[in-house]
Amino acid sequence: MSYAIIARQTGGTDVLKQINLDIPSPKEGEVLIRHTAIGVNFIDTYFRSGLYPWPVEKDLVLGSEAAGVIEQLGEGVSGFTVGDRVAYTLPNGAYVTHRALDAKHLVKLPDDISDEVAAASMLKGLTAHYLLHRSYAPERGQTVLFHAAAGGVGLIAGQWLSAKGVNAIGTAGGPQKCALAAEHGYGHTIDYRSENFVERINEITDGQGVDAVYDSVGKDTYPGSLNCLKIFGSLVNFGQSSGPALDFKLSDLAVGSYSVTRPILFHFTAEPGYLQSASDELFKMITSGKIKININQKFSLSEAVKAHDQLEGRKTTGSTILLPN
Ligand code: NDP
Repeated sequence: MSYAIIARQTGGTDVLKQINLDIPSPKEGEVLIRHTAIGVNFIDTYFRSGLYPWPVEKDLVLGSEAAGVIEQLGEGVSGFTVGDRVAYTLPNGAYVTHRALDAKHLVKLPDDISDEVAAASMLKGLTAHYLLHRSYAPERGQTVLFHAAAGGVGLIAGQWLSAKGVNAIGTAGGPQKCALAAEHGYGHTIDYRSENFVERINEITDGQGVDAVYDSVGKDTYPGSLNCLKIFGSLVNFGQSSGPALDFKLSDLAVGSYSVTRPILFHFTAEPGYLQSASDELFKMITSGKIKININQKFSLSEAVKAHDQLEGRKTTGSTILLPN
């Protein structure tokens, strides 16, 4: 027997339900994975609330990253064997104990990457990878602002920026989160709940502004984010944890000949070779000790409601995982 956490319909955490399922059989090209750890991500809350459109009419299995062990191979699968430890990131379907999945989505885990670390970092770490290498690739000595710096993506990004020699400034909600961000690569931190971050950026950069802003908070931060940029600066808006930035106008960019991009991880992972090469780089950063994955909240899979409440309530730092049992 297997069980899953599904959203019956869009809404608050009350729409989440636990259901029993038969263990699926892998079809041609698929493998059966027994999940050992499942990541919780803000994107899961967007699907649950209905902010992001559903790929099915009802009963959506949430969850966008997981690690586990291959228990069965479908016809025609090559390159994997029963017992391999693997991980993946996809928009939905991970809040379940067992999953049959096309093998093309999987990466094998090196011995020194634990299942929990993989489940806590596939989606968040690959997001940090594409943000800092593709969306806007800052050079050594440049200065950038990263919002929600103590979050799952934020703590990974701070360490990666620091390893690249970039001056990273992070915002976070409250002194404890700021202190945590400062321990993970951010040379300056701003408590954007009590300080005006535009004024602070002005002070820290002697009125120069930053080369780029990575903004996943959206509604509450994006007008200020534009005001922090240097002339020709770049705004990377990659999320909306405070709500979508609905009143953005292209003419807002004219103030400083700014560039803006609104990327999504799954377009990058769909590119041939990207999933494997970016995962290799991420795992190398982790095993070399340059990036530490902070799993600061662990719940049972059956407690997904608690995990969503804490994430949306701004009560988490670093990564959150669910453990099937
Ligand atoms: P986080 O751990 O960063 O959690 C979100 C954080 O956003 C909160 O902890 C909180 O930090 C901050 N926040 C600010 N305002 C609010 C608000 N009104 N309500 C709730 N939180 C708020 O989440 P993840 O690491 O999972 O994701 C970070 C962001 O990156 C999300 O917006 C997510 O959607 C986005 N993302 C985008 C991807 C893409 O490809 N486009 C892929 C992966 C993630 P604080 O208290 O410090 O303000």
